[in-house]
Amino acid sequence: MPRRRRLRKVVAPPIFSGYKPYGTNCESDETIELLYEEYEALKLADYDHMNHQDASELMGVSRPTFARIYKSARIKIARALVEAKVIRMVYGNAWMDKKWFICNDCHSRFTIPKSVSKKSCPICGSENKETLKNQNN
Ligand SMILES: [Zn+2]
Repeated sequence: MPRRRRLRKVVAPPIFSGYKPYGTNCESDETIELLYEEYEALKLADYDHMNHQDASELMGVSRPTFARIYKSARIKIARALVEAKVIRMVYGNAWMDKKWFICNDCHSRFTIPKSVSKKSCPICGSENKETLKNQNN
């Protein structure tokens, strides 16, 4: 029986759904799937300059698990750069402590605080939104 994978906390989803190289004839359809939790680990360590102990606590995982997620993120991004591959963000095993929405018109990702009664996109004002959820389900 496969072990149930534990969820990793992600504070905010990435503000993009992928990256594409340019200046290359990217003929291969192969994409590299970067998980939300890998993005989060990379962000916490290399963008927010958080140490691995603090970052692992924030994500609700052990330090070795954090190190593994972080290493996986770096290997994937290095491979995408060197081989000029498209990076696609996938939900993975992440969970978020807020309910996030994605706007179907401007594709921004946002949360709506309980105190706000207006439920439209804060960027473009569109009502055409959906809940950001596990795309693997
Ligand atoms: Zn919008």
